[in-house]
Amino acid sequence: MSVYSLKMRASRQNGLQAEHVSGAEKILAEEELPEQMQGLLERALHHAKGKADFVNMKIEAIDQSKLQYIDALPVSTHPVSSPAEGRDFILSVLEALGIHNGPAIMEHFKDTYGMRGAMLLDVDTLERLEPDHSRGIRATYMDAEHSLGRTAAAGKNHFQEAIVLASKVLHAPHIIAEICMSDDPDYITGYIATRKTGYVRITKMKEMGCPDGGRIFLYRGDRNDVAACMDYLEKQRVLVRHVPLTPAGDEVNITSPWAVYEKILQDKRQKHLYRETQEIATVQAPHIICRQKEQLLLASNNYLGLIDHDEVKAAAVAAVQKYGTGSGGARLTTGTLTIHNELERQLADFKGTEAAILFNTGYMANVGIISALGIKGSIIFSDERNHASIIDGCRLSHAKTVIYRHNDMHDLEEKLKLYAPCQGLIVTDAVFSMDGDIADLPQIMELAARYKVLTMVDEAHATGVIGETGRGIVEHFALKQKPDVLMGTLSKSLASEGGYACGSQLLIDYLRNTARSYIFSTSLCPAAIAAADKALSILRREPERVRKLRDNTAAFCESLQRNGIDASSESAIVPIILGDEKLAMMAAAELQQKGIFLSAIRYPTVAKGEARLRAAIMATHSKEELRDCARTIAEVITRTKLSLR
Ligand code: PMP
Repeated sequence: MSVYSLKMRASRQNGLQAEHVSGAEKILAEEELPEQMQGLLERALHHAKGKADFVNMKIEAIDQSKLQYIDALPVSTHPVSSPAEGRDFILSVLEALGIHNGPAIMEHFKDTYGMRGAMLLDVDTLERLEPDHSRGIRATYMDAEHSLGRTAAAGKNHFQEAIVLASKVLHAPHIIAEICMSDDPDYITGYIATRKTGYVRITKMKEMGCPDGGRIFLYRGDRNDVAACMDYLEKQRVLVRHVPLTPAGDEVNITSPWAVYEKILQDKRQKHLYRETQEIATVQAPHIICRQKEQLLLASNNYLGLIDHDEVKAAAVAAVQKYGTGSGGARLTTGTLTIHNELERQLADFKGTEAAILFNTGYMANVGIISALGIKGSIIFSDERNHASIIDGCRLSHAKTVIYRHNDMHDLEEKLKLYAPCQGLIVTDAVFSMDGDIADLPQIMELAARYKVLTMVDEAHATGVIGETGRGIVEHFALKQKPDVLMGTLSKSLASEGGYACGSQLLIDYLRNTARSYIFSTSLCPAAIAAADKALSILRREPERVRKLRDNTAAFCESLQRNGIDASSESAIVPIILGDEKLAMMAAAELQQKGIFLSAIRYPTVAKGEARLRAAIMATHSKEELRDCARTIAEVITRTKLSLR
């Protein structure tokens, strides 16, 4: 087998300066070269930092007898919630190595931002040892052993590339530690590597979007060996064995394979992030029985109160009588009953589109639609607060996902510009599930038209809630043009379960043929279909339910405001932001004792430090009970805050 070193370096002209965009290197078998070169080229041309206008690829044959094989450093992860915590951790590792001038070293670390190579620093004298301070020293000619002879994905794997580099660096004479932070604005995990601790990932070394990044090698030893050290870093060809594919690779505990999961749960408990189910003994009406106690329910997605509607229940029962309890197969085998097709026609008619397709849940709809549309080479532009099912759809797709700041049209346009022209899809919640605010769809549609990309909205919390007659976000903004994909769920206003997409016949045909969550799962049962169908017909017949829901939400928010709590909403979701996870948990627990059931929402559902109480209003609440409970909520929050001081 002939072996080659492949190196790519990409930059772009920014005014008079050439700005580094991306760099990578591999050690490869000859037959892997074409595909890997193409992958690296794609990386250079579609990079978050901008499109490269200069790409240099260098290919050199390697004398296999000169290849050195070394083992990867052991890997562990140190989670931190802020860059300051990350820095403190680095200082503590340095202390443990007997290095007491950590703060001064970290000051030097800042000088490495923007350097192409790394700084080589004498830990004791703090002298810089690399001959060219602007270039730094470059650890190069290395790769993971297992990627040789196998066609690995050409995309960036920060994790593996970093382990390879750190393992080589720590093998160099007299290097005792390496500190590194990527300059990729979308990658905030950094690391410190030492022979003693191995490679320790630090989960937050900088804020998302920050372009700073750099690398420092700490040297302790005979100055006469500096040249040999640099020679090793820059010239020795190295293959690193046993590089784990993912960070989880480090957490293998031979004595008990369960220990790692136990630790994760323990960690969640400690951080007030542990979750449990709550058992409800009655129907999802405004008043429920939970923990043997009557509670006012302020947390249900049953926005229009149709779950407990006699006609909806009767329709479900009748469907069971006629079709039985299950659908018996996937949609493309035996799972398409007359009522499945009928509900698809009704949904398309309600949303004013050519066609519709059902999925088994809203979650499965998002995962199926987005992974099907996100073909290789395409770009998905996704709002940072989109629902988890959208995020998972992006992860399952072959597209590159580009996150834009929440409802920030300027940021979205910047990102569209960066990738234009592209096969693209902008995807957003219509009503954001944890904040209750509404996506700026008019602007999104304008941008999509300008940049010729597709649009998709998730109307889980919009259908039956916004728009005069509950038709959702298009009606809310009175738009003439509809997004290409109107996704929604049957599980909220429509009182059942299931998800759907409405759009052109082409879209629906495409999804029926490619969306894996549609194709490979038994279709919805007759009762669920019939209930949703009936709920939809009631929504069309009685649009006043939507008005009632809107009035109720306004009354609840007004009452909260009158009692000193900052809350407002254009939908049926009212977030009461508290920040602290513990405060949110304690307030929710006390409210439950007082007979008010609402959810405390914490990380990872929302960002750390943005914990909140989330109230969901129903059309079937009475204004009086909403006003009363708003007063109680305000009292409990004030008291809990005081008790935590
Ligand atoms: N999208 C959004 C915005 C949601 O809030 C939810 C459910 N919470 C879903 C999708 C998933 O829908 P389902 O519960 O029907 O799976």
